[in-house]
Amino acid sequence: MQQIPLPKIADTLPVFDIFKKCSQRTKSDDVKETGIWPYFKTIYSCEGPEVNMDGRMVLMLGSNNYLGLTGHPYVKEAAIRAIEKYGTSCSGSRLLTGTLDLHEELEEKLARFMGKESCLLFSTGYQTSQGVIQPLVSRGEYILSDRDNHASIVSANLMARGLMDTNIIRYKHNSPADVEKRIAALPENAAKLIVTDGVFSGDGTLLDLPNLYEVAKYYNVPILIDDAHAFGVIGDGGRGTASHFGLEDEIPITFCTFSKTLASIGGFVVGNKAEINFIKHHSPALIFSASPSPASTASALAALEILIEQPELVTKLQFNANYLRNNLIRLGFNVPEGNTAIIPIVVDVEMGLKLWKELFQRNIYVNVFMPPATPVGTCLIRNSVMASHEINNLDYIIETYELVGKLMGII
Ligand code: PMP
Repeated sequence: MQQIPLPKIADTLPVFDIFKKCSQRTKSDDVKETGIWPYFKTIYSCEGPEVNMDGRMVLMLGSNNYLGLTGHPYVKEAAIRAIEKYGTSCSGSRLLTGTLDLHEELEEKLARFMGKESCLLFSTGYQTSQGVIQPLVSRGEYILSDRDNHASIVSANLMARGLMDTNIIRYKHNSPADVEKRIAALPENAAKLIVTDGVFSGDGTLLDLPNLYEVAKYYNVPILIDDAHAFGVIGDGGRGTASHFGLEDEIPITFCTFSKTLASIGGFVVGNKAEINFIKHHSPALIFSASPSPASTASALAALEILIEQPELVTKLQFNANYLRNNLIRLGFNVPEGNTAIIPIVVDVEMGLKLWKELFQRNIYVNVFMPPATPVGTCLIRNSVMASHEINNLDYIIETYELVGKLMGII
């Protein structure tokens, strides 16, 4: 090997300039010092309505396990059987050694359930956004994206801009009027697409699809929906946002994660044959990443079968969500209007952290969203309801909110 002639330097371990930022103090350190740190908490059990955390059983009100299927015996059994038959991994992408009959069976069932011609699986929900959006756009085209879209869509858009020089326009949250204004200002003959969450992941707002569709139809722009928080939650039998509004045929492409209603990890996109086939052959997120594991695929398939056979689970989830939402509003909490399984309470940041601690001390776990995920100065206590919560669970949560809310002077 040829020696590169460099001047002699000290024999001490280097502090790399690029890593210096890693040792600097952050806002998280400030929060941790208050003794309240609601993130990265370890769970020692299956994610049911109650979980083992900090050595005690805690009511889980922060999980996306909407239908409560992650611990369902049929789903677990399916995963075990898949491991026994196929092993633990496909060790290859769909293009090469990673296509199982199990993947194809799930694709077929999902397409049929969603009333679309075709379906394609991805290995995570995050990857699904990237895998769907980026291949569909190219130079000189436009993506119109809601300001509050999930981070996976934001990063998919940035990827499209970086790789394909696609133009990204971020419009006001859930505002078809702003979409109209922005499309009207763009070159008429440039191809465009609109991408949006169906149910927004932060605060659970439902997309104003009927009005957005009117704008999209007028300008002949397709709407792509990420239905992560709508699939299994709203619409006919849990078929999501388009179904909720009776606009299934008008929405060409819907994508979704497995990690919520489908009790697994992975994602899928459904649409017409041509588009899905195009994505399949042009999506780096699909072609260069190993396919969903046999256990993940089998558990999503089993969860889908349960969803199809037991639509009453969706009704129970909706009942539970309405029950909690109505009671929190009755108590006087600031709960934005909504009809999904995400029920946010808006407070200021300091109050939010204290409220989290008071609830956790009383064995209730909720998610806290703080800036920069929320507007400056505000905090969202994000309650996520599951079909597996029983009425006594919800009553305990409501009583505790009343007690703590009064104690803290919030209500
Ligand atoms: N889209 C939305 C709207 C989400 O909320 C999430 C996850 N929170 C994802 C995509 C990513 O899904 P996953 O966590 O399964 O990768």
